[in-house]
Amino acid sequence: KGLIVSFGEMLIDFVPTVSGVSLSESPGFLKAPGGAPANVAIAVSRLGGRAAFVGKLGDDDFGHMLAGILRKNGVNDQGINFDKGARTALAFVTLRSDGEREFMFYRNPSADMLLRPDELNLELIRSAKVFHYGSISLITEPCRSAHMKAMEVAKEAGALLSYDPNLREPLWPSPEEARTQIMSIWDKADIIKVSDVELEFLTENKTMDDKTAMSLWHPNLKLLLVTLGEKGCTYFTKNFHGSVETYLVDAVDTTGAGDSFVGALLKQIVDDQSVLKDEARLRKVLRFANACGAITTTKKGAIPALPTDSEALSFLKDKKKRQTYLKFSKL
Ligand code: ATP
Repeated sequence: KGLIVSFGEMLIDFVPTVSGVSLSESPGFLKAPGGAPANVAIAVSRLGGRAAFVGKLGDDDFGHMLAGILRKNGVNDQGINFDKGARTALAFVTLRSDGEREFMFYRNPSADMLLRPDELNLELIRSAKVFHYGSISLITEPCRSAHMKAMEVAKEAGALLSYDPNLREPLWPSPEEARTQIMSIWDKADIIKVSDVELEFLTENKTMDDKTAMSLWHPNLKLLLVTLGEKGCTYFTKNFHGSVETYLVDAVDTTGAGDSFVGALLKQIVDDQSVLKDEARLRKVLRFANACGAITTTKKGAIPALPTDSEALSFLKDKKKRQTYLKFSKL
């Protein structure tokens, strides 16, 4: 089985013990390990794929706890570095009663931001069949240079590059800077996944249609995906495009749904890239990825909610309980 190497940040989200409060009103917080690239690595491994995580953690209890979570989930940890001087990143995050997400980051700087190019495990990166990354690792040096080097080394060694920008606007100096930097590595990727919110942000266009999505196309791209939450996803390749509906579930926490979707997609295509050229097979893969995303919304937290292969398959077989949305309102 081909190795999927996921590059970037792993951190701990501190989430309020009660829902619908602001950070300052919360009586207490629970630790919720996360970081999109780490979630993707765990998603792949839970589904039976081979995954490695490359990034830097603090040489503190939290950092070693996070590395332990990766190992427990079968993720290769040979690309993890520990920083003696900086702490593992923390983020306090809440969904307030007005529906707005409130973030407070402790990254001043945190260990993930301090990964240097010379610390990269190049042998591990060269063995990747798929190399996956986001954009948070582009925000500051030296991590930005490490990101660029890892991407280059993986590409040279023949890996398929997969990019999910995972926009976190508050971490950037300005929206313009976020847009510029996220787009600066756009044409390197073979597979790109954005959410509807990111599509609007990156294109500065509120019209959610095929034309807007296609404005993100680049000549070397093999697959562009737009995830739409409870409406499923839309896909674009050079030769075909369409949409795949998701499944009706009781969503309690959507954190990690996108990472679960990406993990499922990459696990399905790492050993068989012909899926990218065959629409019927791609649609099957996307039904599976949608199912994994949907399952992830049914439990609290990202990592505890990522499904195993058998959970995802039995969910898909269980057609009586899982009614698909009959009508998909096209992008
Ligand atoms: P996040 O950043 O929260 O991890 P995202 O915005 O990148 O997620 P979403 O579009 O929320 O990604 O979700 C990814 C996929 O998960 C969707 O394409 C869909 O298949 C599935 N999904 C998400 N939310 C729901 C839901 N409420 N009901 C059913 N399926 C869902």
